Amino acid sequence: MIERNAFIGGCDGVAVIESAELIGEEPSGTMSHTLILCCQDERLAYEIFDEAMSADVKRIALVDTFQDEKFGALYAAEVLGERLYAVRLDTPGSRRGNFLRIMQEVRWELDIRGYTNVRIFISGDIDEDKILEYNDVADAYGVGTHISNSPVINFAMDIVEVDSAPLAKRGKPSGLKQLWRCPTGGQRLTTLASVETAVCPGCGEPMEPILKVRYTDGRRVIPDPSPRQIREHVIEQLKDVEL
Ligand SMILES: [Zn+2]
Repeated sequence: MIERNAFIGGCDGVAVIESAELIGEEPSGTMSHTLILCCQDERLAYEIFDEAMSADVKRIALVDTFQDEKFGALYAAEVLGERLYAVRLDTPGSRRGNFLRIMQEVRWELDIRGYTNVRIFISGDIDEDKILEYNDVADAYGVGTHISNSPVINFAMDIVEVDSAPLAKRGKPSGLKQLWRCPTGGQRLTTLASVETAVCPGCGEPMEPILKVRYTDGRRVIPDPSPRQIREHVIEQLKDVEL
């Protein structure tokens, strides 16, 4: 469920194989620290990974297991050459110092050697603030804890009508509702469902109704969209969000 929610919320992919199967996507990921520790040598781990994985798996080298990120990145580029898709920096907080400067240094060293296409992936305690800070240099992020343990949004589903008559518990407005969206600014407005048109309180433009009937008499009347369709819809709506 966490992976599905992360995916429909806009993440590009998930790494757990079963989760990927559940949402109908190909799993994606990078090599692990475990592989490098078992090999006890980064060069050997890159070679083994390259030899064992099929050609369609992107070569994303983890570069901070035994050495400095800059030299680790150059090491990976030396071993994998043009097949190196990205380097992944998973530096623990205790070793980061000025992490943005470390990333800029890695970018610089790769670029001047002609590896301008090699992307930089960042992982490890990444949250939304760090993403904004690193976006100029980082190409992608691996986020775990800050999505799986993100703050909850309180919501509830309530009965608001019984036998077509308005009725709701204390503290809840009764009556069937419609939710409206402004096509330009994304602003939302709730009215009774019997209201036929709504005007955006922000810009004065006509709003569009966005609730759809999915179940009637306990039966599904329109099919659920796929996780990928939901994700595309979310990303489309995010264009209206100001950071
Ligand atoms: Zn508006």
